[in-house]
Amino acid sequence: MSETIHDLIIVGSGPAGYTAGIYAARAQLSPVLYEGSVTAGGALMNTTEVENFPGFPAGIIGPDLMDNLKAQAEKFGTKLVRDDITKMELDGPVKVLTDGSGNVLRSKAVILATGSAYKEIGLANEKRLSGRGVSWCATCDGFFFRDQEIAVVGGGDSAMEEATFLTRFASKVVVIHRRDSLRASKIMIDRANANPKIEFLWNTEVVDVLGGDNVTGLKLRNTVDGTESERAFTGLFVAIGHSPRSELLLGQVNLDDEGYVKVDVHSTRTNLSGVFACGDLVDHTYRQAITAAGSGCAAALDAERFLAGH
Ligand code: NAP
Repeated sequence: MSETIHDLIIVGSGPAGYTAGIYAARAQLSPVLYEGSVTAGGALMNTTEVENFPGFPAGIIGPDLMDNLKAQAEKFGTKLVRDDITKMELDGPVKVLTDGSGNVLRSKAVILATGSAYKEIGLANEKRLSGRGVSWCATCDGFFFRDQEIAVVGGGDSAMEEATFLTRFASKVVVIHRRDSLRASKIMIDRANANPKIEFLWNTEVVDVLGGDNVTGLKLRNTVDGTESERAFTGLFVAIGHSPRSELLLGQVNLDDEGYVKVDVHSTRTNLSGVFACGDLVDHTYRQAITAAGSGCAAALDAERFLAGH
């Protein structure tokens, strides 16, 4: 274990983590930011055009936005580490964190910004055929479905975004939604509705993914009358939301029933002194890049005040 006791370690990148880095570095806290070994940049690394991040009237590509935030954090002195934190001991005045390379770090304060992960439908064949026609990322895998008929499951903004993006490649994209109305925002719905390659299959859930080595179709159930049917598809994109990435925190900080970190209202303080949480890890409601960035700023300010008082 290193003898150094850092002021602040930030766990997780994405808009929340990098923004916390920008503010904490400018406050001279010399933050160390663990970006994650494969998830650096967070969910926005898998998106295309971000049209609603203030300050970019022409829009900005998700990975470019994250590169900018990362460069800004680094410019003020945030030390970025492209590794995972694999263990955390967060109670007590000195927090002890272990990274994926076995380094043990100590810090007076920690900001948790590990974001969220894609939700799975929970079917055995969904997992088995992952990477063989089942995907959670249109920007990563859409290219492989040129001139094919594919399905997108979900009724939120992610599903609309994925479906619209996939029409660049696919001959047809069928959005399968379990209800008869969408949760997505009006602008995203209008765009999907106006796209002649997108078809909607309402009141329908996927009950099985069919195929030996690759996806060949889906078994579907009508959620109103219970009838089952099969339809041929070569791809399935799952866009049914995200769950907070809080597995490492179980038994340490207080989590709610869905695994989100609980914080004191109007702050980023968790139940543990010196431990703050921000971004999608705490947010049931808004889950936007800009709200995550805002809460990352708040976490850095909370950590700064905490450190000043200790
Ligand atoms: P979401 O808003 O939570 O929507 C998830 C959708 O998946 C819902 O329609 C839900 O159905 C459906 N669903 C959930 N579990 C399911 C299951 N087991 N089987 C079948 N369907 C299921 O998630 P999201 O679309 O990922 O969006 C998350 C947040 O990110 C939102 O705040 C959204 O505004 C934001 N976002 C914004 C943009 C953008 O502005 N460019 C792009 C993407 C995401 P029900 O409707 O029946 O619950």
